[in-house]
Amino acid sequence: MSKKQENKIGLDFKTDWAYAPAPEDTKHITLQKQYDLFIDGKFVKPNSKKYFDTINPATEQKIAEVAEADEKDVDKAVKAARKAFEKWSKISAKERGKYIYRIARLMQERAREFAVIETMNGGKCIRESRDIDVPLAANHFFYNAGWADKLEYAFPNRNPQPLGVAGQIIPWNFPLLMAAWKIAPALAAGNTVVLKPAETTSLTALKLAELFRDSGLPDGVVNIITGAGKTGAAMVNHPDINKIAFTGSTDVGKMIQKSIAGTDKKLTLELGGKAANIIFEDAPIDQAVEGVINGIFFNQGHVCCAGSRLFIQESVADIVIRKLKDRMESLIVGDPMDKNTDIGAINSKEQLLKIQEYIKIGKNEGADFYQSSCAIPSKGYYCRPTLFLNASQSHRIVQEEIFGPVLTIQTFRTIEEVIEKANNIAYGLSAGIWTDKGSKIFNISSKMRAGVVWANTYNKFDPASPFGGYKESGFGREGGLHGLMPYLKF
Ligand code: ADP
Repeated sequence: MSKKQENKIGLDFKTDWAYAPAPEDTKHITLQKQYDLFIDGKFVKPNSKKYFDTINPATEQKIAEVAEADEKDVDKAVKAARKAFEKWSKISAKERGKYIYRIARLMQERAREFAVIETMNGGKCIRESRDIDVPLAANHFFYNAGWADKLEYAFPNRNPQPLGVAGQIIPWNFPLLMAAWKIAPALAAGNTVVLKPAETTSLTALKLAELFRDSGLPDGVVNIITGAGKTGAAMVNHPDINKIAFTGSTDVGKMIQKSIAGTDKKLTLELGGKAANIIFEDAPIDQAVEGVINGIFFNQGHVCCAGSRLFIQESVADIVIRKLKDRMESLIVGDPMDKNTDIGAINSKEQLLKIQEYIKIGKNEGADFYQSSCAIPSKGYYCRPTLFLNASQSHRIVQEEIFGPVLTIQTFRTIEEVIEKANNIAYGLSAGIWTDKGSKIFNISSKMRAGVVWANTYNKFDPASPFGGYKESGFGREGGLHGLMPYLKF
């Protein structure tokens, strides 16, 4: 294996799409100076005439201005979606499917542009945008397109019907992918959409709006509005939205749930996580260490299902920790546009400060701090891969979601002990198990209060498999047939 291959975070993801944009390719991607709202098939100025800056977190430079939608813009978008719903829900399901297939194909054709913009606006490594985010986003459209005219077979004797207008609010960690996760099933089920990307990462959603326009998708079927929390709240409170799909922090998720209590809006919430990644003494150690690295450092740790709590069986703790530290030293932190970079930029200054605050908290709580010695650029928001050894269950760094490249490590002796510790937390989104024994996998995965349990792998995603949480990680599933259900009434 070459040195370069070795340095890659070990994502087990195969794609036949093998374009690698060179850094200089950014020169050929032209961004607009200003981005408007996409309502009723057209780009329109915001009512307030206000725009906010969007930056490249790798350089701290402003790259464009984005429109700030207020309540009037939200209302305009909802009205367009309502009008479009009357037609969209009535065209043949086969036709609907064709539009969605076309979107998927166009996304593949423009994959390079999407990947570069995703990296410029969000800070994630180009290798991940290119090999994971964009192809997977296209796959969500392909997968759901296939269901559009098969819903009656998927849900036999249940007469599935669309809900109406879906309001979708997404976060900044996987901007394009989250848009695809939300828009594709909503359209396949016959709904129309008003989607709001996160305020730090609006650009690929707006690129997607161009693609909808170019695909010939009827006006108003998907509307993209931009803005921060106030814009999101205006969507949540709009009386003519039938469903809210939210991915983001648990705090905002709770606020949304309170806001819509007593209305007939449907709701799905995909919130925070603090996953246990458990290594047993019989695990293939090298493979497990790769899985731990991928589990926490993929996408700078900005992953709600990140394996942020490592549990190692005591007898193998020393060797696992030694290998983990060695492997961390080989990770390259820096320019996300460089194909060799493993850990790109933290998405925003605010998030970097939050991560730094948690590092301080961890040190004060008495856990043993370890960081790789890699160089980081002087400009931009970066954080070295970080470990906290000898962490304990009561530490805040163990209980709270950090959403950065920070891993806590605890050891355990028995299966019962680790199951109790893994579950003794407010979240329940995902978990990982590393062992040679199939029986142990079945035993533990059935006892884990987590929506997704990976065994001998981590962060493996597929449009056909459902994803979602328990407890404070939210409710409702996205992906697979389960992901279509929240967009249907029966
Ligand atoms: P994070 O903490 O990861 O930034 P947030 O939950 O704050 O996550 O943001 C996720 C999404 O929710 C973003 O699109 C953001 O603009 C939106 N948002 C933030 N506050 C609210 C709110 N009060 N109501 C609706 N949406 C909101």
